[in-house]
Amino acid sequence: MKNIAVLGCTGSIGLQTLDIVKSNPEKYKITGLSCGTRVKELAALSHDFSCKNIGIADIDKYSELKSLAQDSDVSCGDDALTSVTEGADVVVVAVVGMIGLKAVLYALKQGKTVALANKESLVAGGNLVTEQLKRGGALYPVDSEHSAVWQCLQGEKDFKRIILTASGGPFYFTSRSELSSVTPEQAVKHPNWNMGKKISVDSATMMNKGLEIIEARWLFNTKNIDYVIHPESIVHSMVEFRDGSIKAQAGFPDMRLPIQYALSFPEHADRNYTPLRLPLELRFLQPDEQKFKAPKLAKQAIEAGGNSAAVLNAANEAAVRLFLERKISFTDIVDIVENALCAEPFCELNTVDDVCRAHNRVYDQIYLKYRGK
Ligand code: MG
Repeated sequence: MKNIAVLGCTGSIGLQTLDIVKSNPEKYKITGLSCGTRVKELAALSHDFSCKNIGIADIDKYSELKSLAQDSDVSCGDDALTSVTEGADVVVVAVVGMIGLKAVLYALKQGKTVALANKESLVAGGNLVTEQLKRGGALYPVDSEHSAVWQCLQGEKDFKRIILTASGGPFYFTSRSELSSVTPEQAVKHPNWNMGKKISVDSATMMNKGLEIIEARWLFNTKNIDYVIHPESIVHSMVEFRDGSIKAQAGFPDMRLPIQYALSFPEHADRNYTPLRLPLELRFLQPDEQKFKAPKLAKQAIEAGGNSAAVLNAANEAAVRLFLERKISFTDIVDIVENALCAEPFCELNTVDDVCRAHNRVYDQIYLKYRGK
């Protein structure tokens, strides 16, 4: 029996994790649950899963949660990311944004296995996570592309290059001139994956692929990372080896597969799944970096090192929020990120406080600048 804590339990990945736990009661038990603001959903889930250790990030919601779950241990604020992991073997980090970094570092420090669905933490603080991993704990990817690479690398000693696949999002075939009038409603509708708002917008701008390139850089300790547009999202990524062999991992696009694999590793355990109907026509297309420059910016941030990736991530988090609040246009998002990368002076980030300070400064600067518009 594995004890599992889910941080971000009311989001898309959190709820799908709970589905898997519900289908495998003999294998998994929920021992901790936390979320950002959704008090009622959290109270209901703690009841469904008989989980008495719960937390809410929004401190204003503490008393409401306490009254809804009177016999539970309730934490709030940053504690919601740490207290609920007590007694867990696996901590599923499915919160949105850089805030996930604190949770990842804390869980690793306790020697736990982190199933990571939060790419922003690795983007902003990948060097800190890598250092912490040398001292204990384990990090398993939940992101579908990185799970694919991880699956391809089982039994392998070495590889030449990672090839991430990208669906291209809902606007890959939209003309550049039409992109500026894309609305938040259009941007959050992904053709293949059912996901939360932030990642859906990231996917539409292709910043998601940029963040994933940086995520792969830390997870697999390489800078040899390419990506290809694969609109069908059937091949979830590939690895090329020194003899020219390429391994790919494929399947119907369903996040439950990579989530379950991170829980059941090294086993491919039983699951009710949608089978692929063959034959299938699959396309692998050249990325258009004139129209979607986010992955290129991410590669530049990897080369630059220091605070660059944290700046890219913070600027993107602020810009996505502004776009969802209708303060800026769709094409402004990546332009704002590019400008932030040019404007921010280089520095090294050696502690989690350094990362948080750098993140907050860039985020606040951008958010406050455009909020009134
Ligand atoms: Mg992904």
